[in-house]
Parts: sequence; C-alpha cells; structure tokens
Amino acid sequence: MATSSDYYQVLSVTRDATGDVLKKAYRKLAVKYHPDKNPDDPTAEEKFKEISEAYDVLSDEDKRAAYDRYGHEAFKNGGMGNAAGGGGAGYHDPFDIFKEVFGQQAGGGGGGGGGGIFEQFFGGGGGQQQSGGPRRGSDLRYGLEITLEEAAFGAEKDLELEKYANCDTCDGKGSKDSAGKKQCSTCGGHGQVIASRGFFQVRQACPDCNGAGTVIANPCEDCGGEGRLEKVSRIKIKIPAGIREGSRLRSSGNGDAGPAGGMAGDLYVVVGIEPHKIFEREDDDLFCEVPIGFTTAALGGELEVPTLEGKAAVKIPPGTQTGTLFRLKGKGITALGAGRKGDLHVKIEVEVPTKLNSDQKKKLQDFSDTLKEHNNPSAKGFFDKAKEWFK
Ligand SMILES: [Zn+2]
Ligand SMILES: [Zn+2]
Repeated sequence: MATSSDYYQVLSVTRDATGDVLKKAYRKLAVKYHPDKNPDDPTAEEKFKEISEAYDVLSDEDKRAAYDRYGHEAFKNGGMGNAAGGGGAGYHDPFDIFKEVFGQQAGGGGGGGGGGIFEQFFGGGGGQQQSGGPRRGSDLRYGLEITLEEAAFGAEKDLELEKYANCDTCDGKGSKDSAGKKQCSTCGGHGQVIASRGFFQVRQACPDCNGAGTVIANPCEDCGGEGRLEKVSRIKIKIPAGIREGSRLRSSGNGDAGPAGGMAGDLYVVVGIEPHKIFEREDDDLFCEVPIGFTTAALGGELEVPTLEGKAAVKIPPGTQTGTLFRLKGKGITALGAGRKGDLHVKIEVEVPTKLNSDQKKKLQDFSDTLKEHNNPSAKGFFDKAKEWFK
C-alpha cells in the first residue's frame, strides 16, 4: 500500500538531507516503529512500512530525483517500477531494507549475516526468553493406533515415550546440595550482557544464566543443573468411548518437564484407528458385508451376523437379493459424549456355489426347467428393456 504522505515529512528530514542524515533518521524511526517492538499497536506496522518506503525512495539517487520532480506520481504503474525489481509497488519488502541498512554496517564480524544482527537487535525470540529462570517445557505429540473396539468402548492405554522428566536425584531443583543459587559471575547478576556489534551496542540475555542473574552453586551431577533429564516415561491415557480417527487428546503436564523446575508442557495424543477385519465405520454407524447361500436368499431364513458386542440375528425374507441392506438399530458406536448410538448396516452378498457334483447339477437343472424365463425380478426388468436392442 503506497503512502501519500510526503517522504521528507515521513522521515522528519529537510529536503536537502544527505544520505547519512537520511539513514540516521530512518534507523531511529524504524527501531521505534518496528512491529516486533510494538505488538499491541496495529498502526505501528503501517507506520513502519511508510518509513521504509520513504527511505527506499530517498536513499536511491534516481528515485529521489524522480520523486523531487513528480512526487508520488513518479512511482505509479510503470513510472519507476523496474528500479525496484519490476514489482511495480515502488519499493521492496521493508524488512529487507532494514536488514540491508544494518547488515552493511555490521562489517566482517560474524560472517556478515545481516539476519543475525537483526534478530539480536530486537531481542531474538521475544520477551519470554529474557526473563530467565524456570521456563515451561515443550508440548509433545504422540501418534497412537487403537483398534475399532477400543474406539467404540473406550480404553486405558499405557504409552511409553522418551521425554524430559524431572531429575529424581535433585528433585528437579538442579542443585547437588542445599547451597542453592549464587549470583552469576558473567553478568554480575544483571541477567544481561552488552555486546558490541559494529557501530552500536546490543544488550543480550546473559548466555551463562539465561537472563536469570543467578546460577546454581553446585549443579546436580545427573542432570548438570538443568533439573530434568531425558528418559523413558510411562503415561496412562484414557481413551473415551466413541473417539474418532484423527482426534487429539491432551494429557496435561505430560509433555517435557521444564528446565530449572519450570512447568511441564502438555502431551498431545493423536489417535489413529486401525482398519477392522469386518467392520467399516462412518461417523457412528458401522457397515459390514455378510455372505448368504443362494438357497437361503431364495427361501428366506435366519442369519447370524457379527456386531461389536457379539452376535445378532437378522431375519432374511424369501427372495433377498445381493446388496440388500439390513439396519440393526443401536448396534453401531456410541457417539462421543452423548448417549446416542449409531446403527449397524449389514449388506447381503448372495453366494453362488462353485463346486457342484453331478447329482446337484442335475437337480439344479431340473429346478431351472420349472422356472419361467427370467424369474428374477430385476433381470426381468432388464431383459424387457433390452428387448429393443436384441431385435
Ligand atoms: Zn548471567
Ligand atoms: Zn538433577
């Protein structure tokens, strides 16, 4: 979004300001309005972009000359577009400019990584790190495969995972004895150290005490003073009945233990359900296919079908076709957190015998001779329709 404010006013400089004056003014404003420094001020980012845009134009001799002659018109559609790499926006990413300005000044120190300076200047990962002391442990993710039965009825599972857990030797305190903590000698207890970066100085969290200002006098030998170590932990988790594929369960406080006695993170268990040999699940309903002999299909009878809770009987009416669905109400899965139960849908598969002896073949043939042609109802409809084509 291009600004319409006067670029000189945006940077608070006079129209004859030299490059050095511009740079100084820009740096001052950019630091003040950088979005990372103003997380609660939504206008700061807009202001920051405006400043960056102004600096981008005024610090470039050609663009500045064009701006002096034509004002903002100079950068509209095509005007000076290609000067900024063909983007047409008239300026490039404000963060790039920022990096360039500071990167160039940083000199050889540290391999010329502009990004590093940039991050350190703004305090790295944000405010939390600087407070030092105990920090919260990481959240963890665990993929758990369960059976359909476990998903349907709920279960209790024992998970085994390697994670940071409290050190038993020092009870998570990190100290070998009762001496506890002493002042950090690196930062003199301030928690911060000042490092020189090129032309300006940077305040950083002390690397030895992580900004806490204190260190453990006699660190525990098992955990090195961290108060936690990586080990295999066993965690019990309750799977609620009716859970669905891909559900995420939170096990509070069962993530990594925090360093220096910090709060533990959470464990997230992502549930997968193994394919079942008989049943397929759709929401809270179950589906299965059951084969029946063709005589049962023709004559009718009682069929025993499997359910998750044992066997159930289904009455097969005479003349049942392949693909007929029978619904067993309430034989599906109990919906998670509700009393309502899904249904079981049984699909009939009529089997044709494959091995017949000569006696059976003869009987079938005799039987067939007694039938009118196409006794089967859907076949009758089909051949009626197809008659036209057979002519
Ligand atoms: Zn320190
Ligand atoms: Zn320990």
